[in-house]
Amino acid sequence: MRWFDAHNHLQDPRLGNDPLGWVTTAAAAGIAGMVVNGTCEGDWPEVRRLAALCPSVIPAFGLHPWRVSDRSPQWRDALIECLDQTPRAGLGEAGLDRWILDQSQDRCIELGTGPQGPAPLEVQLEVLDQQLALASERGLPVTVHCLKAWGPLMECLRQRPRLPRGFLLHSYGGSVELVPELVRLGAHFSISGHSLHPRKASHAAVFRAIPRDRLLIETDAPDQLPPADWVSHFATDARGIPVNSPVNLARIAEGVSCLLGIPIEELAAQCEANWMRFFGPPLPGGTGPPVTVLAGSAGVAEAAPASDSGGSCSDHRSERDPVPDGFR
Ligand SMILES: [Zn+2]
Repeated sequence: MRWFDAHNHLQDPRLGNDPLGWVTTAAAAGIAGMVVNGTCEGDWPEVRRLAALCPSVIPAFGLHPWRVSDRSPQWRDALIECLDQTPRAGLGEAGLDRWILDQSQDRCIELGTGPQGPAPLEVQLEVLDQQLALASERGLPVTVHCLKAWGPLMECLRQRPRLPRGFLLHSYGGSVELVPELVRLGAHFSISGHSLHPRKASHAAVFRAIPRDRLLIETDAPDQLPPADWVSHFATDARGIPVNSPVNLARIAEGVSCLLGIPIEELAAQCEANWMRFFGPPLPGGTGPPVTVLAGSAGVAEAAPASDSGGSCSDHRSERDPVPDGFR
């Protein structure tokens, strides 16, 4: 089976300084493609570099709602340049986040906002609107982050002309009632490993309401570490804090297969077809970069892959949850 990670941040320094090593390790675990999402002007060059080196990386460039207040006056020009220079790029990660506005300043900085903290929702909306306009003009797939801001996001989407390529709601956390309208507006929905936490069990009904031809799966690495039963590859950042890696996608897919009651082969085929339609295929030329690194990245401590004692459909019950409810 082949798997496609609909959303990660391979450029994030918490994954160490050898992201190409992760691509190779992920390829060996059956991960045939991944969308690597930029979040701010500072990380777009690294996303470009990774996409240039790895045929299996589809880049996306966007201003994340947590990074809106750090933007320079030239942010839109810089974004246009990235899109011009990287023809297969999508737009993202862009979106709205009201959850972050309730966090303390220290917590915001710890989570990765810039020193000025998060921008007010009106400013997030303005910046999102400009990014959606660019995606519309260029016919790009858009990856949207939405946390506790569903009302404003729906209003924004309803007022605009429909996005020609549609959009992906990454790590979908909205209600079941919104699903039909979002589908009409052109949404795809991706499920992350975080959804496999037992305390998220009530959300399974929402995922089951998603039409199968709009379904994708993601790691959101290095964030949204799944419960331990659904981790195949344990890693920590330079400070010893557990991080998620793109390698975990195949194991997350097993969890999602259980959650949705879809046989694993069927899920793989459906997610691949959806990926190809929405993002377009990875470039020909193999799934990994021309390097032979097999172990993890420098600066990232890795434990051995999990043994076979991991979870199954009937026994995933871990309560361990080292990540915050927020995601990026
Ligand atoms: Zn993200």
